[in-house]
Amino acid sequence: MQDRCTLCGRRRKGGSKYCLYHQRAYENLKRAFERWRQALDISWVEFLKEVAGNPETGEWAREVAERLTERGLL
Ligand SMILES: [Zn+2]
Repeated sequence: MQDRCTLCGRRRKGGSKYCLYHQRAYENLKRAFERWRQALDISWVEFLKEVAGNPETGEWAREVAERLTERGLL
């Protein structure tokens, strides 16, 4: 699966594991985690589980959070 997003199989951007949508969602997750971590004592895994279980999480972000959690790609 070269040059395909590891989450959805769409063509990915050069240098990224993800397509444009999932790359953007992943970056947003990382930024959100930085903010959460300052307020809460929370790990990346716990954060991803929160995000995946939150009904307000966007579709792309949820996919990223779920896949990262289930594959242990942390
Ligand atoms: Zn994708």
